[in-house]
Amino acid sequence: MSLTTIHCPKCNSKDHKFHTSYIVGSGEKREIRHCQNCGRYFSETKNTPLEGLRRPLSFIILVLNALNEGMSINAACRTCGTTKKSINRWLERLGGLKEVLLLYSTRA
Ligand SMILES: [Zn+2]
Repeated sequence: MSLTTIHCPKCNSKDHKFHTSYIVGSGEKREIRHCQNCGRYFSETKNTPLEGLRRPLSFIILVLNALNEGMSINAACRTCGTTKKSINRWLERLGGLKEVLLLYSTRA
């Protein structure tokens, strides 16, 4: 499931095709896209809030939902096996996507 329309980071074209895939540290599969306009290869998460995230989005949503339900940040770290630094980074990057993440979490 794509959260946003993917554009080429070089020429902003929407005309790109699947090239290959790779597995991030969490085991989640991501795609490398090939721009048909300029020839650049890029990750499907390039220039998105998801770029560089190592944890699966479903895990991040679980942690953020726990915080929204009133769990303290320390309890969320202990329970989910993550760090305050990671949680704060996710909040900074994904805070503006709350409604989209909620929709994603109901479909995942
Ligand atoms: Zn391009």
